[in-house]
Amino acid sequence: MLGTMQDGQLSIANLLRHGSRVHATAEVVTWTGTGSRRATYTEVAREAAKLAHALRGLGVTSDQRIGTFMWNNNEHLVAYLAVPAMGAVLHTLNIRLFPEQLTYVANHAEDHVVLVDGTLVPLLAKVLPTFDTVKHVVVVNGDASTVQAPDGVTVHSYAELLADQPDEFEWPAVDENSAAAMCYTSGTTGDPKGVVYTHRSIWLHSMQVCMTDSMALAQSDRALVIVPQFHAMSWGLPYAALMVGASLIMPDRFLQPEPLAAMIAAERPTMAGAVPTIWQGLLALLKQRPQDLAPLTRAVVGGSACPPALMAAFDELGVTIIHAWGMTETSPLGSVSRPPAGVSGDEEWQYRILQGRFPGSVRARLMADDGTQLPWDNEAVGELEVAGPWVAAAYYRVAEGEEGSEKFHDGWLRTGDVGAITPDGFLRLTDRSKDIIKSGGEWISSVDLENQVMAHPAVAEAAVIGVPDEKWSERPLVAVVLAEGQSATPDELRSFLAAKVAKWQLPENWTFIDEVPKTSVGKFDKKRLRAAAAGGELDIAHLS
Ligand code: ADP
Repeated sequence: MLGTMQDGQLSIANLLRHGSRVHATAEVVTWTGTGSRRATYTEVAREAAKLAHALRGLGVTSDQRIGTFMWNNNEHLVAYLAVPAMGAVLHTLNIRLFPEQLTYVANHAEDHVVLVDGTLVPLLAKVLPTFDTVKHVVVVNGDASTVQAPDGVTVHSYAELLADQPDEFEWPAVDENSAAAMCYTSGTTGDPKGVVYTHRSIWLHSMQVCMTDSMALAQSDRALVIVPQFHAMSWGLPYAALMVGASLIMPDRFLQPEPLAAMIAAERPTMAGAVPTIWQGLLALLKQRPQDLAPLTRAVVGGSACPPALMAAFDELGVTIIHAWGMTETSPLGSVSRPPAGVSGDEEWQYRILQGRFPGSVRARLMADDGTQLPWDNEAVGELEVAGPWVAAAYYRVAEGEEGSEKFHDGWLRTGDVGAITPDGFLRLTDRSKDIIKSGGEWISSVDLENQVMAHPAVAEAAVIGVPDEKWSERPLVAVVLAEGQSATPDELRSFLAAKVAKWQLPENWTFIDEVPKTSVGKFDKKRLRAAAAGGELDIAHLS
């Protein structure tokens, strides 16, 4: 028997119509370095209509891919809405990828048009001649005449292209299962892999972002979106904001602690989203130059494990860090750590530092090496697998049997993340499978060691990798960045750890570095650190 309900299609066009009509005065604010420029959602919708007309004029008539090479700002939000709503596919290019990777992803996605921010023109210019399918480059907030167009490419000014376009557009009906947007993972092994979100997956994910036990995004929020729009769709915050009428505060290219602090003072966000390294930087500044952060009371932090010491420091500043786990492949919301009702004190804290609880739409299981399922007892450790309506079922144009296809089986995504699950459904990740240190047949969690070392007051950042060891096969090496003006010796740091970790896990290899190398999305780049260690570039102290 079929139900009697309507078949309401979940589409970005509907999100755009809803946000701009019901939440007409909500706004997107873009930081300019010295102040802000602002647009209401009504104005955003008008600009989206103009962009859609302009793109039609450039031959975008169906599901062509439109690349964006942009910061988080008003125009990027306009593209987020206009491109999928007109039936085309938004491809957010990660501006921090290596040139060869950018070439690979633009060609693999077959981008037809690229929208580029004026400040990023020099970066794009280096790779543009290798983009085989791009026919048009549109320069946003910049001088189009500065772009050297390769043969077959026409360069346009965004402002001029949109100037005389109508500010209404007949958004076509689009099947909710068709492609809306795509993101490539940064590809720690092999080529980057494309994840293609559908209108339906984005809509459902947006609802999750707004749920109370998730990010709880609401109409009363002013969301500071630091996580880049090219990194897992800014964790879904822009679309969710249109759904509930939250305002968006976009930092544009001003991602350093100083301008972020100025923007917080001027624009008074209520919530924010960023990876841990951004908060570490902001914390260091706030220690030197205290500032009232109100009304900022919550910050969603994910992308890598959030050090508990960082959470504790922000607690003191009145900002609750909400730890969340996700991946590009999971849209990205996978789990969010909201302690269960009735717990308090240390018990509450023990929940907060976990990666979080799975929402109703995300199924999870824990797998042993032999392919059997492990119990949820917070002890058994295995690889996490997830499934759900906003979890990828495949990578774009990766056929069964090709590199990357092994991540998907029986309708489940193999996350490559290793950990345990509590009986009440909280994820506790211990590591990424490739970062675990295998010492004498036992596993050492690099993340646990990092968190413990980073709790030392003299330490700004610490990254732990496994280095080859004749006797144990691998042993941990701790690369420490000292906080400004602080000092500590390897012996002191190891004694500090002695009370906190098992004796056999205590690292004997230590090195001090100026900065932990970071990936294109701001995570510790352990691949580079491993290469530096293997290449003898680090000055390593070996304690006996
Ligand atoms: P990439 O794989 O290119 O780094 P993603 O941003 O998709 O791109 O990374 C997803 C991975 O980030 C997860 O598989 C996991 O290893 C890590 N991650 C995300 N959030 C957390 C978290 N809260 N704690 C630990 N690891 C996390």
